Amino acid sequence: MKRRGILFVISSPSGGGKTTVCQEIRKELSDLAYSISVTSRRPRPGEKEGRDYFFVSEEEFDGRIERDELAEWARFSGHRYGTPRQLLEETLNAGRDILLAIDVQGALQIKERYKSACLIFLLPPSFEVLASRLKRRKTDDESEVEERLRRAKEELAFRKHYHHTVVNRDLPQAVEEIKAIISAERCRVGRT
Ligand code: 5GP
Repeated sequence: MKRRGILFVISSPSGGGKTTVCQEIRKELSDLAYSISVTSRRPRPGEKEGRDYFFVSEEEFDGRIERDELAEWARFSGHRYGTPRQLLEETLNAGRDILLAIDVQGALQIKERYKSACLIFLLPPSFEVLASRLKRRKTDDESEVEERLRRAKEELAFRKHYHHTVVNRDLPQAVEEIKAIISAERCRVGRT
């Protein structure tokens, strides 16, 4: 019998290395689908519509919430972000596993709505490393960096709600650990 797809969630404070880690995982696990989020934030230089996000207006975001088109959504640094529900559910129903890279508020909504979701928290090696990564990124202005750092402190406290934590000290090792978690979930009794 075909099993339902597994929903994997990865969260980390911004600057935690989630984007890079997810890119590597997607390269190595080509059978794993990836959810592209909808956001009301403007594209950063180099970001592409439909690859990084679906960029929409505030009005369009309101419409998607009203029409229950989002599996979860959250406000982050003055912008809104959400996971398109239809693609997520079609993927799971088709028996394909899917990865969501979303913030902690969204992850908790997913845990509530999709009880068998597997939540992975990617931890930066230290707060200092996180601060220097965010400052180096230079895509956000100083007040945005400060806001993201403040937020990161709050987010770290949420890791107790996750099933796994992985420390992102070394990229290849973090990727290996996440792949191991994915393999173990796929083998778990009750999933097959
Ligand atoms: P950024 O603006 O740096 O791309 O993303 C800011 C935060 O929003 C990150 O923590 C990112 O993981 C999170 N995020 C991206 N897409 C979604 C989504 O669909 N839902 C939620 N809840 N958070 C998201």
